[in-house]
Amino acid sequence: MPNIELPVVVIGAGPQGLAAAAHLVERDQAVLVLEAGASAAAAVSEWGHVRLFSEWSELVDAAAARMLEPTGWGAPTTGYPTGAQWISGYLAPLAAALGDRIRYESRVVGVSRRGRDRLVDAGRAEQPFTVHVASADGTEHRVDARAVIDASGTWSTPNPAGADGLPALGERAVADLLDYRIPDYRARTKYEGSHSVVVGSGHSAVTAVIALGRIARRDPSTKVTWVLRRGAVGNTFGGGAADELPARGQLGMRAEEFVDAGLIDLVTGFRVEKIDRDGERIVLTSEDGRTLAPADHVAVLTGFRPDLSFLSELRLELDATLQAPVRIAAEVDPNLHSCGSVAATGARDLAQPEPDFYLVGAKSYGRAPTFLAMTGYEQVRSVVAELAGDHEAAARVELQLPDTGVCGGAGLFDSTGTAIGASCCALPDRQLIQIGRPIASV
Ligand SMILES: Cc1cc2nc3c(=O)[nH]c(=O)nc-3n(C[C@H](O)[C@H](O)[C@H](O)COP(=O)(O)OP(=O)(O)OC[C@H]3O[C@@H](n4cnc5c(N)ncnc54)[C@H](O)[C@@H]3O)c2cc1C
Repeated sequence: MPNIELPVVVIGAGPQGLAAAAHLVERDQAVLVLEAGASAAAAVSEWGHVRLFSEWSELVDAAAARMLEPTGWGAPTTGYPTGAQWISGYLAPLAAALGDRIRYESRVVGVSRRGRDRLVDAGRAEQPFTVHVASADGTEHRVDARAVIDASGTWSTPNPAGADGLPALGERAVADLLDYRIPDYRARTKYEGSHSVVVGSGHSAVTAVIALGRIARRDPSTKVTWVLRRGAVGNTFGGGAADELPARGQLGMRAEEFVDAGLIDLVTGFRVEKIDRDGERIVLTSEDGRTLAPADHVAVLTGFRPDLSFLSELRLELDATLQAPVRIAAEVDPNLHSCGSVAATGARDLAQPEPDFYLVGAKSYGRAPTFLAMTGYEQVRSVVAELAGDHEAAARVELQLPDTGVCGGAGLFDSTGTAIGASCCALPDRQLIQIGRPIASV
């Protein structure tokens, strides 16, 4: 392998970047982690108040645990941590153990091959990667790398409220009044007696709705509106008791209880078209002209998308829908998978036309919302094995992912919420469609 003396650069010191670094250290590979934030797990720290639906055992990478054990660290064993506890109980000690292999306040702003833009073939594979880094003090520098693992997540690029994936009319002008991440609803008094709107249908939206439902139960003058783009509730409440991650299943069940109890107004088929300001309040209007009552707080929890801007000079093969590596997209595409029978993915699935460049972690799922930490730990184990030349370990699958239990009658829905199939993960039956006039009438 050319440039073998250069480090593998890992972008991002989140759960996945740190795990990748631990695997690299274990395999005696030089590694440099570049992290935009001032400390490790900067994205997780922004949702530190949220309790995870995964247990501790599913949140600790095996190589990281092996690295931490000699330091006297004790693996937390039971219970469901908050994001803050995930950091204090595991991610921060892991970052400390990795020491100066992590460079903080170092935002990656570009990745390319040294001296070769995307167009140039000649000698491309022999050139090291050049990673362009902007430091917090405004200076820029470059780092050469023999391989790059992009574990920068999707947290920095939330989706807008606009139903077409672009900001709704007026959304940019009121963006400072909107929350694009789960608010900390523990500051109850801020929300009591006011009107909160939650836009979105994923786990973050469900988590927000539950927190607001609790506030509304204590203070009935609190109004909560939950806006779904889809025309039918469909699988919004998740797999319930059939979810193999019980805490994830309970999220949907609790949200459903609050809706059934009348503490939350569920509005379906509401595609946000326009957002207006009414003094300090926000008014949402849908494509079909419906307008919600003015809101004091609006949380836009419509998911995230990968930031591909700094990868423009690399040759990537990404799925046109999900913006994820094509070989994993079919596995994780929510249009095809109404249930959670997602297979583990590794180096082979993540490989790109640009050799030795890998997207891992939350970013590897592109716009799909179903990423789990354990998925990523399996990815980085396999990718690092591949980079270390251990192809057998890279090809091995060491993980079976839990099913979400969104199966059976709920079936498949198209983007309008219309049922298009009845059984879990089964594509709708093929139907003969007629082109031109029926033969009988010719
Ligand atoms: C609210 C919430 C709850 C979740 N709950 C669960 C759960 O219960 N169970 C589960 O398995 N998963 C859960 N997830 C999903 C997933 O496990 C986490 O999102 C996880 O943090 C993803 O890890 P990551 O390392 O891929 O990305 P991130 O945690 O987003 O880390 C990316 C890191 O890269 C840094 N970075 C970004 N851009 C750059 C750049 N250009 N240059 C340098 N650094 C950069 C960021 O600062 C950050 O530190 C949850 C996610 C969210 C948002």
